Amino acid sequence: ATPTALLVGTGRGAQLGILIKGPEVLESTRRIDMVVLDKTGTVTEGRMTLTGVHVADGEDEAEVLRLAGALEHASEHPIAQAVAKGATARVGELPTPEDFANVEGLGVQGIVDGHAVLVGRPRLLEEWSQHLTPELERSLHAAQAAGRTAVAVGWDGQARAVLVVADVVKPTSKEAITRLRALGLTPVLLTGDNEAVAKTVAAEVGIDEVIAEVLPADKVDVVKELQSEGRVVAMVGDGVNDAAALAQADLGLAMGTGTDAAIEASDLTLVRGDLRVAADAIRLSRRTLSTIK
Ligand code: ADP
Ligand code: MG
Repeated sequence: ATPTALLVGTGRGAQLGILIKGPEVLESTRRIDMVVLDKTGTVTEGRMTLTGVHVADGEDEAEVLRLAGALEHASEHPIAQAVAKGATARVGELPTPEDFANVEGLGVQGIVDGHAVLVGRPRLLEEWSQHLTPELERSLHAAQAAGRTAVAVGWDGQARAVLVVADVVKPTSKEAITRLRALGLTPVLLTGDNEAVAKTVAAEVGIDEVIAEVLPADKVDVVKELQSEGRVVAMVGDGVNDAAALAQADLGLAMGTGTDAAIEASDLTLVRGDLRVAADAIRLSRRTLSTIK
């Protein structure tokens, strides 16, 4: 068959807000039976707000916000932006870190006002033998049980606080999952975030399967493993940490609102970042392919 019908399909795709790398990428849509969805920035807005500050006994809330906010100001992670913005709103101008480093999938570390500061998953602090007090543990678990993201703050050898940030599910995500299911696809939520948060978000949008606490470099292995089990996998993501998995998937779909790395690694781009269009893209592609058979 000539690719004329495919080109018509891609033209219609552009109208719907779908950019297609080339007609050949659509071949796989016939066989896809599973859609792996990144959580942050894909199913959720990826914009979070600082909603809680829990300090350990004897710690000063303003100092926690100054040091954690200063460090997070240097990071582009959605959690970091929420912390920096929330801290600025509460304590005013923040100091500039003397040193700063991202610890991929775990958090940030650096020097602020002469203090060695860590902000991130409790695992990051544990690596430096900074253990959460029972009081901070309770705050962390309460926040997570409520479906929020909690990160720990520590400096100079001690855990000091737990910060709570909340991200909201995009208004279009639930309908998107319904549409994907209607196409016979099994949705799976994939995230570096903890299991409780992942499950709360999944329940909110109607996803039953969750793969949580996956390090950025391991996302691609999750896709490979699903493929080795015989699944034909579409992956939807937005982040630099999704790029390898998007390239590995049988069909990679990037949020147009996401990073260039994700867009470059993908077969399709959902220009407006509307997840419902992922289902439309797969349906349109299948229909287009069937007209040339
Ligand atoms: P996702 O897969 O949901 O997009 P990431 O892999 O980027 O998440 O990050 C995993 C986890 O590491 C986050 O949920 C958070 O707990 C922690 N983390 C990463 N970067 C930061 C940061 N800059 N500040 C605080 N916590 C962070
Ligand atoms: Mg993401």
